[in-house]
Amino acid sequence: MVVTDITERLKVVRDRIAVAAANAGRDPATIRILAVSKRQSPAAIAALAEAGINDFAESYVQEAAAKLSAVKHVTWHFIGQVQSNKTRFIAESFDWVESVVRERIARRLDEQRPHHAPALNVCIQVRIDPRDSRPGVDPEDVPAMAATIAGCPRLCLRGLMGMPPAGRSAQETARSFRSLSSLFESIRKDHPSVDTLSMGMSGDLEIAIAEGATQLRIGTALFGLRSD
Ligand SMILES: *Cc1c(COP(=O)(O)O)cnc(C)c1O
Repeated sequence: MVVTDITERLKVVRDRIAVAAANAGRDPATIRILAVSKRQSPAAIAALAEAGINDFAESYVQEAAAKLSAVKHVTWHFIGQVQSNKTRFIAESFDWVESVVRERIARRLDEQRPHHAPALNVCIQVRIDPRDSRPGVDPEDVPAMAATIAGCPRLCLRGLMGMPPAGRSAQETARSFRSLSSLFESIRKDHPSVDTLSMGMSGDLEIAIAEGATQLRIGTALFGLRSD
């Protein structure tokens, strides 16, 4: 049964977090699970919400729409590439955007966030490793980007998101997370609303916890393998 699988996987993930937090001398309650539900069905999402998960993340606007209207009363995060022609939907439908990499996109989200809604929570996606070809703000440009977002009245700057390139050793991954963590600490000094360090996925959550993650983005360890 699907529901049993999900509950069991959630238990395994929670146990992994508990062990890693204990090893790092951290309180597991300070580490949020963000369930990455791309390519998953509304039924699977509802089952995980029923099991106690409150935060879900989607990467593609196209497939998110049906799920956002099917599963209410949870917090929705957008973690995919933000295209200019999708900012309105994102600003109107999501609670968080963790993948902001351009000032122009931040300004559009700010303009398009409805006034009856609370400010849109925003994380800056950082390119931790300069050799990484995926989108991200280079670390030296993060302070300026943070200042821009903090100056947008309909946005609330919450923190940084990043991921090390795939296929790196545990040691290199730890080094990447550590540099993101120190950038987070320095941004936090200038911006009191910053409280979220979003790093760590199914395969490297222990390393991320050791380096200070406050939020883990977990897909396959909760839902099982995706078709992508
Ligand atoms: C898919 C995805 C994840 C989840 O990855 P898993 O390895 O399945 O846990 C996390 N973050 C981002 C940005 C993703 O696109």
